[in-house]
Amino acid sequence: MTARERIVAADKARVWHPYAPMDEYLASDPLVVARAEGAWLYDVDGRAYLDANASWWTSVLGHRHPRLVAALTSQLAQLDHCALAGITHAPAAELAEALLARSPGMSRIFYVDDGSTAVEAAIKLSVQHARQTGRPGRHKLVTLGDSFHGDTVGAASVSGVEVFRRPFGAILFETIRVDVSSPAREGWARAFAQLSDVVRRDADAIAAVILEPVVQGAAGMLIYPPELLRGARRATAEHDVTLILDEVFTGYGRTGAFWASEHAGVSADLVCTAKGFSGGMLPMGAVLATERIFDAFRGARDRAFYYGHSFTGNPLGAAVGREVLRVFDDERVLEGVAPRTARIRATFERLGRRGGVARARSLGMVGALDLEGGGGYLAGAGWRVFDEARRRGAYLRPLGDVVYVTPSINVPLDDLDRLLAIVEESVEAALRA
Ligand SMILES: *Cc1c(COP(=O)(O)O)cnc(C)c1O
Repeated sequence: MTARERIVAADKARVWHPYAPMDEYLASDPLVVARAEGAWLYDVDGRAYLDANASWWTSVLGHRHPRLVAALTSQLAQLDHCALAGITHAPAAELAEALLARSPGMSRIFYVDDGSTAVEAAIKLSVQHARQTGRPGRHKLVTLGDSFHGDTVGAASVSGVEVFRRPFGAILFETIRVDVSSPAREGWARAFAQLSDVVRRDADAIAAVILEPVVQGAAGMLIYPPELLRGARRATAEHDVTLILDEVFTGYGRTGAFWASEHAGVSADLVCTAKGFSGGMLPMGAVLATERIFDAFRGARDRAFYYGHSFTGNPLGAAVGREVLRVFDDERVLEGVAPRTARIRATFERLGRRGGVARARSLGMVGALDLEGGGGYLAGAGWRVFDEARRRGAYLRPLGDVVYVTPSINVPLDDLDRLLAIVEESVEAALRA
């Protein structure tokens, strides 16, 4: 047995994979990744693959950025972990200061483990906040159809992607869901108008509105006009309803601004962040809150937020998270987005005009297209493109019939050009077959 065969045998005998139909996986010849660097994954045989989705949207500065590696190892030499309940350490305090300095309107940070737990914490914060400001009847969450906020029960309750919800309908809590009738501009405008109407009409029952700002990621990289967020902000502010913006995917430069909400000039009451938060190196996230929300949790003991995870504020993750922000500054990462955006846009515009492609779109470091024929998340079309791309040296996991790229924000230009060429060739080849 080769090393590769041994790993695959052990894996196939024992590992249950996320988001993977297991019979298909067991019949497949999986990539066995041994190493990663920058935009590249290397398999055990030394073959290189461009990481088209930055490892599930997390690796915003590329794999093993030397400064993140140094921050992690130097933190590891000092303090691996300790709880954050009433004691503290430099990484938690310094990351808080640095992240809030670039998050207008936000003044407190609550550390969590990942995106789903950021959403869980935000949901609970909004409900407890309503209760502690004398409005216990406000406990419903308003969501947008096809939103995705994570896979824990609370996060799944406020998510709309039907395939992921279906088995759990009986245990998910009830929300007020506003569906988007069409992916065209008018469809979004109608949905947001309806969302504002719902807030105005039912404010007395609503704790919070939760939205993915500007891009709905897992729904298939659906992009809506940023200015629509302003209406939601206006309606929630007028009725003192908490606005939660889930920037788990869109934050850290993914859309070209550090926070996607900056495109709309909107500031939330609670912001969820993860993925890029730790540069994709460690599982960690946070909820940012305004001072107004925080104030409602002060005072008597029973007003505290009794919530936390074993690894809340983990020093290793926090030290890396702190260094991520320094790298954004020192390497002027956001200034580098424009030329990358132009390349992604040109490629996807071209692909959008091609037969077999129903529509294409891009924003910042996101480019996506829908293959004709529909079929949604369970469709096989995207996987044919995946196979073609793998043969050409790119890892291009689709969302059903949506083929997309979300490379690291600082992907070197020649790597990006190579990736986009592979995407074009692979779409061509898959459609020809
Ligand atoms: C990925 C994602 C989540 C869940 O984050 P995990 O770290 O996978 O739990 C939540 N919200 C959005 C918008 C996401 O894209």
